[in-house]
Amino acid sequence: MEDVVHIRLEDLQSRHIGPIEILFGYENGKYPQGNCLVIRGRDRAAIIDPALGMLPRREMLPDVDMVLLSHIHEDHIAGLHLFPDVPCFCHCDDALGLASIDGLMTIYGLGGESLADFRRQIQTQFHYVPRPDVQTFCNGKTFDLGGVRICAMHSPGHTRGHCCFVVDWDGSDERFVYLGDIELTGFGPYYGDAWSDLTAFEQTLNDLAKVQAHYWLTFHHKGLIEGLERFRQMLGDFASMIGDRERRLLAFIRAPKTMEEIVAHRFVYRPGNTGMMIDDVERRSMQQHLDRLMDSGRVVCQQGRYVATLVGDRNDGGRQ
Ligand SMILES: [Zn+2]
Repeated sequence: MEDVVHIRLEDLQSRHIGPIEILFGYENGKYPQGNCLVIRGRDRAAIIDPALGMLPRREMLPDVDMVLLSHIHEDHIAGLHLFPDVPCFCHCDDALGLASIDGLMTIYGLGGESLADFRRQIQTQFHYVPRPDVQTFCNGKTFDLGGVRICAMHSPGHTRGHCCFVVDWDGSDERFVYLGDIELTGFGPYYGDAWSDLTAFEQTLNDLAKVQAHYWLTFHHKGLIEGLERFRQMLGDFASMIGDRERRLLAFIRAPKTMEEIVAHRFVYRPGNTGMMIDDVERRSMQQHLDRLMDSGRVVCQQGRYVATLVGDRNDGGRQ
């Protein structure tokens, strides 16, 4: 992992758009860093997802009245400890992650050694501090900052309570959408935690395709995206990774395979990527595909081995 101590203030960029200041993380928010937002209205100001990039900025922290969180994962709250007296808010379905470190670990659902290692990392490298005082909101909650509005759009799938934030302001029709961990990368959607949900993620991607805005910001990697057409192209490519994984899975299990063989083959990560956490993510992600394929009769499980049936076979593309 990147040693955040060596990231200097001058390595970090920012950009203003209307009432919004984007505080980019190192290298456009490459994990474990991330891009966060400060939004200033006439009456109040908010910060969204204070991340590791806030640490080099600690001498010039923005003066804000609230912290809004897209969801509760370690990288999105790594700068939260710098705002101990500022009210913080997240969707009601993710609040457990701020109640205690145990609550956060429940969201990931790790077991064994991965659990102990990651738990330690969250406390030391991501500066986890519980915020049992977190206030919760639901879909459609609007934070009015005075001439500037931030509306929470519940967008579950990555976590149960994941939200995007839609920002609009007086005097402009160019809306800005903070996408959180709907990353739009070639990696594809991440639904590998205990609190992730493949079907909910697909619905979220469909819902996002209907949102009108000019600016879009991902927490990681892609950063700022300008223009609706460009966004929709990227969203479509990102969403297609789900079907791509499923087609590759169906091709792989034309001959019966155990879950361990499926995990070892790699459908989410690249072949050769190793680690217990990666195994966990592969298992949980592909189990969700298998469950729905079994529901529709396209896969059966026989003596602990999964095998594709002929039902819907013409749609599987045969790619591997
Ligand atoms: Zn996340």
